[in-house]
Parts: sequence; C-alpha cells; structure tokens
Amino acid sequence: MARYELRCRECGKTWGHQPRSICDDCFSPLEVFYDYDSVRATFTRERISQQPPNMWRYAELLPLPEGFRPSLPVGFTPLLNAPHLAERLGTKRLFIKNDAVCLPTLSFKDRVVAVALAQARNFGFDTVACSSTGNLANSVAAQAARGGFQAWVFIPSDLEPAKILGTKVYGARVVPIAGSYDQVNRLCSQIADEHRWGFVNVNLRAYYAEGSKTVGFEIAEQLRWRLPDNVVVPMAGGSLINKIKKAFDELIELGLVEPKPVKIFGAQATGCSPISTAVKAGQSDIEPQKPATLARSLAIGNPADGHYAIKTITKSGGWAEDVSDREVVECIQLLAETEGVFTETAGGVTVGSARKLYQQGRIAPDETTVLCITGNGLKTTDALAGKYETEAAIPPKLVEFEKYLQNTLEVPETVEV
Ligand SMILES: *Cc1c(COP(=O)(O)O)cnc(C)c1O
Ligand SMILES: [Zn+2]
Repeated sequence: MARYELRCRECGKTWGHQPRSICDDCFSPLEVFYDYDSVRATFTRERISQQPPNMWRYAELLPLPEGFRPSLPVGFTPLLNAPHLAERLGTKRLFIKNDAVCLPTLSFKDRVVAVALAQARNFGFDTVACSSTGNLANSVAAQAARGGFQAWVFIPSDLEPAKILGTKVYGARVVPIAGSYDQVNRLCSQIADEHRWGFVNVNLRAYYAEGSKTVGFEIAEQLRWRLPDNVVVPMAGGSLINKIKKAFDELIELGLVEPKPVKIFGAQATGCSPISTAVKAGQSDIEPQKPATLARSLAIGNPADGHYAIKTITKSGGWAEDVSDREVVECIQLLAETEGVFTETAGGVTVGSARKLYQQGRIAPDETTVLCITGNGLKTTDALAGKYETEAAIPPKLVEFEKYLQNTLEVPETVEV
C-alpha cells in the first residue's frame, strides 16, 4: 500500500485517494490508514526535533500529497504549566495546551484546514467551502485567501459578530442560514453533490480530521516524549477527541513514547451535550439535541463522530462532563485570572468540566493532566457582556487619582444577586 489511503472505518473497504467521506457500501465514515512500517525508520524523535516548530514536523503521519510544500507555520502552540489554576481546582501537575494562540486564526481549526487545503489543491478544486460554528469559517477564509482559493462559508445566522467579521475580512463569501448548525451541515452535503467544491468538513473530512492529531503529537513531545495520564477535550462534532487518542496510539506504535494508558475526558456545554449525555447514560449512540448554549463553537446537536467519541472515552476509562452557560463564563474568567490565557466559550467549557471531574474524583490530583484550550476569547467577547462596567473617566491629575483610589478602596464588594 501507499504511505496512506482512505478506508471504511466499519467494513474496511479501501477507497484510495479521493474527495469522499462516506463508504458507498455501508454508509460508514472513511478514515485515513497508514502503512506504519513505511515511516518507522524516519519518524523518530531526533528527526522531528530538527524540524521547525510547527505542525508540519509530523508531516509523515499526515495525509499530504506528494511534494507538498507548506506555506504557513501552523500549530506547535505552547504547553503551559498551570500552577495557579491547579491550586484553584485543588490539584497539581496541570497543563494547558494553548491553541487560543494557534496561527493563523487563533483556534485549533487552523490545523485541520491546513491539511484539507493541501488535498483540495491536489484534487484540483479552485473553490473551498465549509459549514461552520465559527472558528472553521475564520480558518477556511484565511487559508483560502493565502492559498489562492475562492471560499464559500455556510454558518448558522446567530454566530458571534467577531466570528462573522473575522471571516468576511478575508474576502470569503459568507452565507448565513436561518437554522441550526446541523441544518447548515445537511445543506452543505447537498451542495457538495451539486458543485465541484472542496468542502473541508464534508467531502474532504477524512483528510481534514487528521490535522487534529498534531495536538496529540505536540502534547507528547512537549511533555518530553511522555504521554499524560489524562486529557480533557472539548467536543463539538467529536473529531478532535478521537484524533488526540489516535495520535497517542501512533506514537506508541512507532516507539516514540512508552506505552501507557491515557484517560480521555470529553467536555460539552449542558445546552448542547449529546455526547456527554450518552456517556453518562451508558449508551453507545447519541440522541440528537437542539442546541441552546452560549458556547456556539461547540453547538452541534448531531455530532458526526459522536458514536466514536463515546467509544474512545469509555474504552480509555475516561468520562464526559458538561457545564451550564454560567459556569462557562465563570471559567473563562478563572483561566484568564489564574494563568493569563483568554479563551473563548469552548475553553470555559473545558475548564468547567475539568473542575467537575476533579470534584468527582474522576481525575486524581497527583496525575499529569492536560486541558485542551482550543480557541481565543477575543472572538467571543459577547459572552462577557455585562461582566465589566465602563467607569466614568477621571481627570488626568494625581490628586484625582488619589481620590479615586480612596473611593475604590472604601467601596464595599458588590454583592452578587
Ligand atoms: C470545532 C471546535 C471544537 C471541537 O471540534 P470537533 O473536532 O468538532 O469535536 C473545539 N473547540 C473549538 C474552539 C472549536 O472551534
Ligand atoms: Zn464500508
């Protein structure tokens, strides 16, 4: 076999290389399979460490066309230790994988889009497209501009203004749909049948999803080629969580890390929690939900990889939790105040869910745990509306400031109602 190929996840039928995401025989999703023996000699710690600090250092385990030359340094975001947050959560050995600063558009979606567009070019598409809850829209638009593609982006019309603006600015065509993400996605599948466009998360989905593995590769490398005991991952379609697990398995298979069980934990917003609800109920399939949450980037009521996410979580001995919108906001503030990382609503979901998992004793304080922070808070500032008042300006005089300081110190803490 070639270095990699598409195969059906369920019946195993091989599909080679093509813009297709579903097996025609059994209607199951396609997955990229690799010939690990073909990269065993070259995919080594030494070789990887000599590469520039971006996700392309793992190119041999990404489905990239022959001769692909990357034009953007995507990924290799910081893995921060988080002692202050750990203290607040009553734990130790806590790390933040900070994709709030992933380039070029400040979310982990830059990783998946980078791989999808490499294949879009390979398949000869001149137009790329996506259905998006926001971050994917930003990333497709930006990378399409740089790559010289036309971009069409389909979104639920109630997305955050910053995510809409942060798509249009790149010259992408943005089509707002009066409906949920799930309805937008269904429409995109139909459009993909009619138009010769590369939909990154529809007909290119199998390739796209592989980009998420680089989060897992980086976590292991940044822990000096050791796997953590636990990871906590936000879930929308359920793809990222599966691919982090796949990355860990591949590193074990190729001997870059010692084999070790890693517990995989999923995080959702209670207002859209089909995966965590199924995990808690012991069910192996999701029941679709109608999303109602502030965490719009995670608001997928019928997640394409939900079934596999449930499997990944339960087989690993992990769990899934979900948090209210109030907890999301509180945990955005908590992460910012303790570690200086301003995350979007999805990060609030992750921190809030981790807090619950520690409280429940499902994550032990002496174990190494990584929280995946996947997006940037500047894109969802509306989540903090009303949290910080604009104060009246004071005259630029020292005496005025001293007066102001006196008043500030004297005013009692405002009481929460
Ligand atoms: C898309 C997204 C996720 C989840 O991605 P899936 O792979 O669909 O589960 C998590 N966080 C943010 C910020 C996202 O935009
Ligand atoms: Zn099949």
